[in-house]
Amino acid sequence: MPIRALPTLLINQIAAGEVIERPASVVKECVENAIDAGASRIDIAIEVGGKELIRISDDGDGIPEDELELAIAPHATSKITQQDDLDAIATMGFRGEALASIASVSRMSIVSRPRDQQQAAVIEVEGEQVHPVRPAAGPPGTTVTVRNLFFNTPARRKFLRTDQTETGRIGDVVDQLALAHPAIAFRLRIDGRTTLDLPAEELPRRRAVAILGPELDQQLIELWTQDRGIDLWGLVGRPEIARSNAKHLRTFLNGRMINDRSLMHAVREAYRGLIEPSRYPTAVLFLQMDPGQVDVNVHPAKAEVRFRNQGSVHGMVLSAVRSVLREHDLTPGVQFSRDNDPASHLALPRMPTPEFGAGNVSSSSTGSDAQRTRDDDSSRFVEYFRQLNPTQKGFIYSEVKQALRTEMPELVDESDDAKSGDDSEPGSAESAREESLPSFRSANDVMQVHSSFLVTQDEQGLLIIDQHALHERVMFEKLKERLAAGPLESQRLLMPATVTVDRDQVDLLESLQPLLTRLGIEAEPIGPTSIAVHAFTSLLFSRKVEPEPFIKELFDKASGDGLADDSEAALHEVLDMMACKAAIKAGDRMSPDELQELLRYREKIERSSNCPHGRPTSLRLSIRDLEKQFGRS
Ligand code: ADP
Ligand code: MG
Repeated sequence: MPIRALPTLLINQIAAGEVIERPASVVKECVENAIDAGASRIDIAIEVGGKELIRISDDGDGIPEDELELAIAPHATSKITQQDDLDAIATMGFRGEALASIASVSRMSIVSRPRDQQQAAVIEVEGEQVHPVRPAAGPPGTTVTVRNLFFNTPARRKFLRTDQTETGRIGDVVDQLALAHPAIAFRLRIDGRTTLDLPAEELPRRRAVAILGPELDQQLIELWTQDRGIDLWGLVGRPEIARSNAKHLRTFLNGRMINDRSLMHAVREAYRGLIEPSRYPTAVLFLQMDPGQVDVNVHPAKAEVRFRNQGSVHGMVLSAVRSVLREHDLTPGVQFSRDNDPASHLALPRMPTPEFGAGNVSSSSTGSDAQRTRDDDSSRFVEYFRQLNPTQKGFIYSEVKQALRTEMPELVDESDDAKSGDDSEPGSAESAREESLPSFRSANDVMQVHSSFLVTQDEQGLLIIDQHALHERVMFEKLKERLAAGPLESQRLLMPATVTVDRDQVDLLESLQPLLTRLGIEAEPIGPTSIAVHAFTSLLFSRKVEPEPFIKELFDKASGDGLADDSEAALHEVLDMMACKAAIKAGDRMSPDELQELLRYREKIERSSNCPHGRPTSLRLSIRDLEKQFGRS
C-alpha cells in the first residue's frame, strides 16, 4: 500500500482515542481548561451518563472570537510557546489536543466571551463539519457543550458502560478537581438535579471535608510539612475510617491529581499496623514542588508522573504521615448506632447515587469551639493554597513563609518541620500524656471484665481495652525494639525439639537461616521431613510459647503465600506472629500487677491504638458521649 497522509479528522479521532476515553475525560479536560482560564466558578451539567450531553460553563478569561477556530485545531494551545516550557509545565493542559479531539468525536459548540467584550461568539463543529463563527448571546466566560459523544465512532460508543457507571466516573473526576481547587466554586447537575454544590472556600480543609463527607470532620488530622524541597499539606484519616477501596486515598501534585504507585505505597506503609492490610486509609495529600523536578508529560491524561527523585518523595511522604499519626491518640470512639457510624457510611458509594442530595455536601459550620480552632489553624494554609493556582509557575514555599513571618508571625511555626496542624485537638497525644493521671493507676481503677476486656478511664472518659490486642501490640513493639539492637536473646533447650515439616519445607530452612538467627532460633535439618530446634527465642519461651507449633507455622507461612519479599515486611509478619502467640489471650485472668504493667505500656509504646493487624486495641467512651446517651446534654 502506498504511504498516505491521514485526513485531519482521522488524526484527531486517533488522538481522541488516547485523551478522550469516556464522558468523564471530556469533563476533566474541559474543567481543566476552565481552571487554566482563571475561572472562579465552574458549572457542569450532564445527561444520560454524559453520553447525550455534557455542558461545562465557566466565568474565566474567555476565548477571543478570532481564536475560536484555532482553539479546536489540533496542537493549538495558548499555554506553551517554547521548548523550555515543556520542562516546567504548570498549567493543567498543554498538549492543545483536547478540544480538537472532542470535536472530532461529538457535536460540539463553544460559546465564549472575553471579559472585555460586549458580545459572545459561538463556534459549532460536527465531526468534519465546522460551522463559521457567529455572534451569540452569553455572559463573560466560556460554555462548552458536547452532545452525542462518539456518535461517529460506534465502536467507542459501544465500549461505554452503563449510564450509572459513567455518571459515577464523572462524579469522581469532579470530586478530584474540586478537592484540588478549593477556591473555585463547583456545581454538578445530573439529569437536571443538582448533586454537588460547593461554594468557593478560603480553607482547603472545608473543601476536603465537603467532598469526603462532613461526618468525617473530627476524624481527619491535618498535616503540614516542608522537607527535601517538597511542601506537603494534607488530611489523614484516623485508622477507623479506613475503607475497602482506595477512593478516599488521593494524592495531588502541583494542583493536579496523580496516581503514583510509590506515593500510594508510602501512605499505606505509614499506616502499616494501624489498619488491616487489605484496607485503604482515608488521606488527601497535596504535594507542591518545583515543576522541573517532575515529568508530567508521560501519560496522555496526565494522571501519572515521573519524579526526578522518586526515593526521596516516597521517604518524605512516609515519614510525614507516619509522624503525624504517631503524634495523635488514635483511640477510636464507641459508635452507638449505625446511623452515625462513619465507617458504615463510607461503605456506600457517595457519588453520585440519585439519593445523594445537595444538602449533604454543604460544609457544616457548627460554630463549636473545636470547629473554630481548626479553622483558625487552617487559615495559615489559605495563602499556601492560593499559591496552588497551577498557572503560576515555580511557586516557592519559603517566600510564602517569609511573607507570613512578617505579616502574620503568630501563624508561622518555626519549631518543627514535620509538625501537624491541629495541636489543639482535644484528643491529641500530647495533652493525654502530659497530664497523665497517676491517680487512676491504682489497682482499683482498672477492672478486668470476663477475663477478656479491661475497663479504665482517662481524662476524656471511659476506656475499654481488648487485653489480647493491646498485649499483642506491646509484645510486637518490644520485639521490634530488641531486634533493632541485635539478634533476640536465645535460650538453649535441654532437649532439642523435633519439628515435622513437609519435604519441600526442609529446603526452605537454608534460606530462612539468617532470619532465624536474628530471632534467636537455632535449627538444623535432621531428616527429609524433620528439623531439630536447639535454641528458641527467650521471650517466647518465657511466655510459654512451644517451639514446635511455632516453627511449623513459620514454615507453613514461608512456603504458602511466602513471606512478603521486602525484608522489613517479612520481619513485620514474623514479629506479628510471635507477638500474637506470646500475648495474653482472651480468657486469661490477669493479676493486678499485670494489669498495671499493661496499662503503663499503653502509655509508653507507639501505635498502641491498634494491634499489629490494624484492629483497635481500645475504644473510648467520652464523657460527652455518655452525657448524650443519658440525655443530659
Ligand atoms: P490545551 O488546554 O492543551 O491548550 P485544549 O484543546 O484543551 O488545549 O484547548 C485549546 C485552547 O483553547 C487552550 O489553550 C485555550 O487557549 C483555549 N481554551 C479552551 N477552553 C477554554 C476555556 N474554558 N476558557 C478559555 N480558553 C479556553
Ligand atoms: Mg486543555
